[in-house]
Amino acid sequence: MKVKFWGVRGSIPTPERRNSGYGGNTTCVEVRLANGTVIILDCGSGLRGLGKSLLRDFGDLPIHAYVFLTHFHWDHIQGIPFCLPLYKEGNAFFFHTVKRNEEGLKSAIEGQMVSPYFPVNMTMLHSTRHFYDLDFDPVDINGAVVRSGPLFHPQECVGYRIEADGAVFVFATDNEPGSAVHDRSVRDLAQGADVLVYDAQYTPEQMQSERIGWGHSSWLEGTRIAKECGVKQLFLFHHDPDNDDEFVDGLVENARREFPNTIAAAEGLELELPTPVLKPVPAAVAP
Ligand SMILES: [Zn+2]
Ligand SMILES: [Zn+2]
Repeated sequence: MKVKFWGVRGSIPTPERRNSGYGGNTTCVEVRLANGTVIILDCGSGLRGLGKSLLRDFGDLPIHAYVFLTHFHWDHIQGIPFCLPLYKEGNAFFFHTVKRNEEGLKSAIEGQMVSPYFPVNMTMLHSTRHFYDLDFDPVDINGAVVRSGPLFHPQECVGYRIEADGAVFVFATDNEPGSAVHDRSVRDLAQGADVLVYDAQYTPEQMQSERIGWGHSSWLEGTRIAKECGVKQLFLFHHDPDNDDEFVDGLVENARREFPNTIAAAEGLELELPTPVLKPVPAAVAP
């Protein structure tokens, strides 16, 4: 499977030069399976770029996109009104979330486009849209198994684990450590993952003081989970709007002392999973 980060920022887009290295768009990740299936994790402002990219890739062919939403805070849904494939006839979007029935999911998504918040009502878009409540049951999406688990966040949040093409990709953002049920849940999701994308919005010091109860985590918790669960590579994610590139570089440096294979997610970054294992080149045999 191929993974591309279209938005990595938390809370609000930050179109500022000082953080353009990691990027200012809010959360959106594309997972493209080997069989071409398009899976979208979260619909923050990064979805605008992903939508245009899908139109370029598919041309006149219909786009079927399987969307998994973690929750409904603005930074995770605000790209939807600007996703051009939603406006095009023949395209189909399959929206999934957890613990919100189909009608509740539909109205949570459509609600941001009702008057006076947006000039176009979602019911006027030409694509077809379908809504599913997973209720934490695994679902098969064209051969990929997508599992979900609860995360600890105001108004609740969901993490996702995608198993496909011989790889495991885990997306666990907007999670505060400290609740036994949720600490267990995020570890269940992360077990043996090739890649764990994890909420590292705050520093460990902020987590001990002024940010208690804000629903986020730190690089330190990310490295703990990665070590405990045998994760191969950790991606720090949901960068704080106030953290510029230099500051995020510092977080990565700290994290690498605990878990060397740590990277900060950056807008535009692409991965291919599982990472090909390099075979040793046989020594040349003298003729
Ligand atoms: Zn968020
Ligand atoms: Zn949130």
